[in-house]
Amino acid sequence: MKTSNLLLATQRETPSDAETKSHQLMIKAGLIRQVASGIYNWLPLGVKVLRKVENIVRREMDKSGAQEILMPMVQPGELWKESGRWQQYGKELLIFKDRHKREFCLGPTHEEIITNLCRNDIRSHKQLPVTFYQIQTKFRDEIRPRFGVLRSREFIMKDAYSFDLSEEEMNHSYNNMREAYKRIFDSMGLDYRIVKADSGAIGGSDSEEFHVLSDTGEDLLAFSDKSDYAINADLLIEALSDQDSESLEGQPSPDGKGNLKLTRGIEVGHIFKLGRKYSESMKLTLQVDKRTIFPEMGCYGIGISRIVAAAIEQNHDDKGIIWPDAISPYEVVLVEINPKGDKALKSLCSQLYNSLKDKGHEVLWDDREQSPGVKFSDMELIGIPRMVILGEKSFKDNQVEFKIRGEEKISRLAPEEIEDKL
Ligand code: ATP
Ligand code: MG
Repeated sequence: MKTSNLLLATQRETPSDAETKSHQLMIKAGLIRQVASGIYNWLPLGVKVLRKVENIVRREMDKSGAQEILMPMVQPGELWKESGRWQQYGKELLIFKDRHKREFCLGPTHEEIITNLCRNDIRSHKQLPVTFYQIQTKFRDEIRPRFGVLRSREFIMKDAYSFDLSEEEMNHSYNNMREAYKRIFDSMGLDYRIVKADSGAIGGSDSEEFHVLSDTGEDLLAFSDKSDYAINADLLIEALSDQDSESLEGQPSPDGKGNLKLTRGIEVGHIFKLGRKYSESMKLTLQVDKRTIFPEMGCYGIGISRIVAAAIEQNHDDKGIIWPDAISPYEVVLVEINPKGDKALKSLCSQLYNSLKDKGHEVLWDDREQSPGVKFSDMELIGIPRMVILGEKSFKDNQVEFKIRGEEKISRLAPEEIEDKL
């Protein structure tokens, strides 16, 4: 892609209503634009990152054996009445009527739809275990949308649902998903932590959250300095009712190993053992040896759009974003510094651009007639990990300059050597 053909909507001013770094940088780098409170347009650079995140998630879901489906965003009220959640879910559920006065909601999650699908289309217990997933838009009428796409009303989620014949097998499906989640967050290069999120029993493993560690995170996490014990601090405070978060700083860990430490996190994933809640309320049954059984379910969410912001919270400096390789919109940017419009230099840019593209690299070519200062600050702001500078001086020596985002050092190379660097 040439920047002259790209909607490169960078801006220098920091938006006054953006409190977090990721929100500021997503606006300044031209990744998103607000349409209404908690509702956003994604611009071309933003969509590129979103697709990278989606593709990593899709790759690992497929590898785990889950099958991709696509369920509707608009969901009939009847199904929610069957599960009992029409009344329970609260004001985050956006409800409306169609022209026939039938009640619908915009899907904040899809347990009802998937349970309905399975009770119609799974005919034999031999079809279990099975896990389905989708990558789709969700709507939750959040009371306080904030921090850009970190807490929006409309957002993209990967949600998966597993169905098993026994609790033991459900545990297996759950662990399979847990491993897939680890591979997902590892390959995105994120610093994350898995914490217990079960309100029932501390030490139980019914629900776990994946948190990207960040000071701006809304959740407080408590973890032992000597073991794997880690929990959403809210739950610990609930269980130890006389405590507040202050008093947790240094307390002995509930597992008896080491002392508790606190940190902040952004919840990017949540895995949950649902058990028979939906199969029983919605009467999803299967026959096994003349016995009627209700399958054991699990559900597993990942905030695709939230990950984009969470990754920026962890990867930026005062010049802008520094994308981890796996989710960067482009691998490398060629910055052409050619104020006199030198034809030979232009043709070198064009050759390098085409040869890298032919070899399958994702290349951005900043071919705009802008000052070097503007080009460098734009490219640093949008965070492409590698920059090749093609300017008159080095060109005279048949060389180009190479710089890694976030590092000061500039090295000189022959244009043919760039491919090796990528
Ligand atoms: P939170 O505690 O942040 O409100 P949640 O527990 O309600 O999230 P889940 O129902 O577990 O969220 O949804 C699965 C994933 O979807 C979350 O882990 C998160 O990454 C993402 N997510 C949930 N709500 C939002 C939102 N309002 N904006 C962006 N992403 C969200
Ligand atoms: Mg959650």
